[in-house]
Amino acid sequence: MSIMNAPANTPVWVNEDRCKACDVCVSVCPAGVLAMRQEPHSTLGAMVEVIEKDSCIGCMECELSCPDFAIYVADKKEFKFAKLTEEAKQRSEAIKKNNYRKLEP
Ligand code: SF4
Ligand code: SF4
Repeated sequence: MSIMNAPANTPVWVNEDRCKACDVCVSVCPAGVLAMRQEPHSTLGAMVEVIEKDSCIGCMECELSCPDFAIYVADKKEFKFAKLTEEAKQRSEAIKKNNYRKLEP
């Protein structure tokens, strides 16, 4: 299994070469950090995106749920994660209702 090097000051990141756009990570994220964007060049027409990295609470749910080992969460010793806010919870619900797609600005 190839693990990407952790980028600096980033709580969560994606290896787009591995992502199959299955939506699972978006469905389990409690903080509305992730959403799918349209991606015409990918086979499935979508790609996961870290849309609100500052809301990541480091729960690891995305990394543990990804069937393709395509998403990684920083080590708690190396990154100070956010606390779960009401705003983040509401964004998470809104993204799920939006079929896991990014919300319109
Ligand atoms: S769970 Fe993994 S493969 Fe599925 S959308 Fe998220 S990163 Fe991509
Ligand atoms: S670690 Fe938790 S809060 Fe951060 S992106 Fe993954 S599922 Fe969301």
